[in-house]
Amino acid sequence: MELLDGRIASQAIQQQLAEAWRSQPDLFNRPPHLACVLVGHHPPSETYVASKIKACTAIGFQSSLLRFPETVTQAQLLDTLHQLNADEDVDGILVQLPLPKHIDEQAIIEAIHPDKDVDGFHPVNMGRLANGLPGFVPATPYGILLLLGHYQISTRGMHAVVIGRSHIVGTPVSLLLSRNREPGNCTVTLCHSQTRNLSQFTREADLIVAAIGKPGFLKGDMVKQGAIVVDVGINRIPDAGKKSGFRLVGDVDFASVAPRCAYITPVPGGVGPMTIAALLKNTYEAARLHRQRS
Ligand code: NDP
Repeated sequence: MELLDGRIASQAIQQQLAEAWRSQPDLFNRPPHLACVLVGHHPPSETYVASKIKACTAIGFQSSLLRFPETVTQAQLLDTLHQLNADEDVDGILVQLPLPKHIDEQAIIEAIHPDKDVDGFHPVNMGRLANGLPGFVPATPYGILLLLGHYQISTRGMHAVVIGRSHIVGTPVSLLLSRNREPGNCTVTLCHSQTRNLSQFTREADLIVAAIGKPGFLKGDMVKQGAIVVDVGINRIPDAGKKSGFRLVGDVDFASVAPRCAYITPVPGGVGPMTIAALLKNTYEAARLHRQRS
């Protein structure tokens, strides 16, 4: 069993990005700029945004954090996004989800200009992905592909089973893995809460992507010997032994699954850091295209 170490792969990508923008001073007369919008004080969101900003700083990207109270109105957020869309100094925009219940998340996502939508959630970018056209791919699915690519794992001809069909993870992962390119070229089965006999599918899988949101859901007896397992889950479970009072676990029961795998991602340190690397890659690409247009 080999660990797919997202920290190592993410560092390598971040290093490449730092060199890439700095080595093109004509194109990048100023660093790529990511604007992050954060609403309220949801602890995981605070952590995610802080990591994204820290990663930007580490590779010399500019970042801005626009914070709003939980009581912000939808109109205020839309107004902010219109300003960011028009701001020539901003290359990428990220609105950290989830948003408070009184805000229509989809309306906010659709207010981001597709050319600055580095999270890849805008229907234009989702449509481009579905049609195999260039566009911004959501960061977590993109990060999974980058991780497989970093470890030079060829997925051609594999049966991939994706568990979870969310718009931010499961559905785009299933599209990406079925595309006619590497990593890709898989035969994909997309499972969800209504799937009957889930383990019948997972036991057949060469590659399993678990994006369910249930701690330790995938057990060893659901996985065939020699499979590749990518654990997307980030679940906080109480742990009195930790200063924070919790620890992070994935959707995969690592202890029983890992011994059966050819490769497996750890949690933390697997898909999480790759999500950041993919976001930075999208930001770099948004900046490159933006500078070429202007
Ligand atoms: P969602 O809650 O949006 O989707 C969960 C999916 O799992 C749904 O499609 C649901 O099916 C399916 N599901 C639930 N129960 C079962 C079951 N018993 N059997 C089969 N399928 C089931 O979650 P997300 O996709 O947003 O996130 C999934 C996990 O990934 C979470 O732990 C989240 O924290 C983590 N995550 C990690 C990221 C990272 O950077 N590493 C980024 C984003 C998410 P149905 O559609 O039928 O309800």
